[in-house]
Amino acid sequence: MKIIRTIKELKSEIINIYNLGFVPTMGGFHKGHLSLVKKSINKCTKTLVSIYVNPTQFNNKKDFLRYPRNIKKDLKTLKKMNIDYVFIPNTSEIYKEKRKKKLSVHNRKKVLCGKYRKNHFEGVIDIVDRFLNIINPKYMFLGQKDFQQLFLIKKHVKKKFRVKIVSCKTIRDKNFLALSSRNSLLSKNNLKIAGNISKELNLLKKKIKKNYKYIKKINYYINYITKKYGVKIDYLEVRNERNLFNS
Ligand code: AMP
Repeated sequence: MKIIRTIKELKSEIINIYNLGFVPTMGGFHKGHLSLVKKSINKCTKTLVSIYVNPTQFNNKKDFLRYPRNIKKDLKTLKKMNIDYVFIPNTSEIYKEKRKKKLSVHNRKKVLCGKYRKNHFEGVIDIVDRFLNIINPKYMFLGQKDFQQLFLIKKHVKKKFRVKIVSCKTIRDKNFLALSSRNSLLSKNNLKIAGNISKELNLLKKKIKKNYKYIKKINYYINYITKKYGVKIDYLEVRNERNLFNS
């Protein structure tokens, strides 16, 4: 496994690899990340994993600073999986080239997380665009857990890059909670609550799939979950790919 820190070295290493799989991550690995890496290993001749906590996609400095990082453990895991390349750039390396023109993100992005996490998706699209310009992989593996992100990246890369996006299913723990690096910041009790809320949402999804009349009861469910679990909900909406960006 080769650990690479500069763009120059990365380019010279991967220049002749046609069937390269790329898995962008922010580290703090769990089985969700590893499922993407395994998919790439199975599909591609060589696999490159990036580990970079991108500051521009955080709308809150505190959140950026306390984002779970565990590079040593992550590298050990990747080595065991026999990964070919790991790219761990620092911020001055990755942002040394200034953009002449601001990138435009989908013009109806101000829904769901786009509404509640200011400039988050602009930061995500910027970093993905930078990575793809450098790496030019054949495949990029992304999780459905971050569905809005997956959707926006697909849209952004469609006409600009040769890359094919492989969308990977969400991996959950035994309590049905989607695995996430940030889960490690939760107390045992809050993890349990998060699992219970996931189960409630899954039940609601099943009910809605059986009978659309339940969509009209969404405000009831917001109140119910807020009261039962003592949480504040930013948003709970029913959307599909077709109406994802309707406001
Ligand atoms: P992150 O390190 O959180 O930026 O995630 C890196 C990639 O892993 C993204 O494409 C995520 O959507 C994906 N991912 C994160 N958690 C999961 C999960 N529980 N199941 C599947 N994919 C995931």
